[in-house]
Amino acid sequence: MLKILKTRIHQGYRTSQYPTKPLTLHRHFKGLPQVNTACRDEMAQRCAEMCPQEAIDAKKRLIDLGKCVFCGLCERISNGEFVHFTNEFAMAATRREDLLTSGAMPDLTVHRRKDVQGLFGRSVQLRQVSAGGCNACEADTNVLNTPFFDLSRFGIGFAASPRHADGIHVTGPVTRNMREALLRTYDAVPEPKIVIAAGCCAISGGPFRGSPEIIPLETLVPVDLYIPGCPPHPMTNLDAFLRFFK
Ligand code: SF4
Ligand code: SF4
Repeated sequence: MLKILKTRIHQGYRTSQYPTKPLTLHRHFKGLPQVNTACRDEMAQRCAEMCPQEAIDAKKRLIDLGKCVFCGLCERISNGEFVHFTNEFAMAATRREDLLTSGAMPDLTVHRRKDVQGLFGRSVQLRQVSAGGCNACEADTNVLNTPFFDLSRFGIGFAASPRHADGIHVTGPVTRNMREALLRTYDAVPEPKIVIAAGCCAISGGPFRGSPEIIPLETLVPVDLYIPGCPPHPMTNLDAFLRFFK
């Protein structure tokens, strides 16, 4: 017992003080991109052609965060001339079109659904639905329950049953085999309910976009919150939850 207490005292308080104190992620973290709108046409076009996700609109100088896997290729081949990825983790949006960005994101709190404003301020429970992803999105969501993030201190949690949930948090592209399970889970959540698409697979199909084996999430259920990333950083998820629900 003494040994445990000694270890505890030695370790100190490990929980992040975010959002009371701002949190800066490692400089190598690829967060919100800043596109150089004055970039040469040839370079912007080259980046668009090389992008494995067809996420770049060279003419409008936009990157679609709903498709981007944050591989950093466009930054590398343009040597930063076309885009620079910042370590800003706040990237979520309530409208799909807002994910097409050159570096600015709209205020999340402005566009959230009026009927749920204030309703989940003290407590919100989500049912996680892994609709066919690679498990990285799910693993980085799970991290939110560790002492550093301590999601439950905000009154946010993940429920075992959709009947006890206020919404669903979907990760991965919706595979044909998961379609029925997703719809039944959605139907089981009582109204008013929220749908969160987390990760580029859930938002656009990600690397599986166009496959006949997947069904776009938006054609099945109405999406209220989009959280970009591949996978989204736990802080991107946390920031989105806090600004959307709190
Ligand atoms: S970082 Fe995103 S936009 Fe750039 S090449 Fe990779 S997928 Fe495309
Ligand atoms: S978005 Fe990326 S990390 Fe998440 S399920 Fe798809 S491939 Fe995996």
